[in-house]
Amino acid sequence: MAKLKVLIIPVTPFQQNCSLVFDEEAKKGAIVDPGGDVSNILKTIEQSNVKIEKILLTHGHIDHAGGAAELREALGVQIEGPHKDDLFLLNDLPKSGAKYGMADSRSVVPDRWLNEGDEVTVASLKFSILHAPGHSPGSVVLFNDENRFALMGDVLFQGSVGRTDFPYGSHDTLMASIKEKVLPLGDDVAFLPGHGRASQIGIERKTNPFIQRL
Ligand SMILES: [Zn+2]
Ligand SMILES: [Zn+2]
Repeated sequence: MAKLKVLIIPVTPFQQNCSLVFDEEAKKGAIVDPGGDVSNILKTIEQSNVKIEKILLTHGHIDHAGGAAELREALGVQIEGPHKDDLFLLNDLPKSGAKYGMADSRSVVPDRWLNEGDEVTVASLKFSILHAPGHSPGSVVLFNDENRFALMGDVLFQGSVGRTDFPYGSHDTLMASIKEKVLPLGDDVAFLPGHGRASQIGIERKTNPFIQRL
C-alpha cells in the first residue's frame, strides 16, 4: 500500500493549511492550495527532498489559490482542480489580493478542471473527487480511500463548517454537501481542513455543533 504523508505549510495572513502531500516510498508528491508565500513553499519542498508532480486546488479563494500561477511557473508542473464553477474566483484573484494585502496574487486557469467522480493521482496515491459546493460553487474534496484521508478545503473544519456569507455562498448547499458526500466517507476518515487542526469525520459527527443540527 502506498503510504500518504502530509507536511503542512501555513500560508497567507489567513494561516491557510497549504500542504505537501506525498507518497512516502516514491518521494513524489503534490502541493495542495498554494495561497501565497511561494518562497516558503519552495523552501519546504527543497528540504523535504520530495519531487513535486503537480499542484492541486480545492477551491478558488485567494488564501488557497493566490500563489498557484507563480508556483506553477517555478516548478513547471500542472494545476488540477478545482471544479469549473470557481472560474470567476480564479479570474478575480488580483482584485482580492489588492483587497487583502496580497499584492502578488495572480489570476490562474488550471490545466484540468475536476468533476464529481474524477480521479487524481499523486505518484501511486489515488484521490477520488467529490464536488462539494456551498462555501464556493466549485469546491472539491479529495479523498484517498487507501489511507482513509481527505483534503477538505473549507467545507468542514474541526468544530465548524465553511463560511457562506459571500454573495455566491449557500449554507443549505454546504450542509447538503457535508451530509450527502463528506459524512458517508466514514467515521474513520481523517481530514486536513483549509484552516486549523486536522480532525476525523467520526469526531465531527459526534461533536461538531453544525452537524448535530443536520
Ligand atoms: Zn475558502
Ligand atoms: Zn480558506
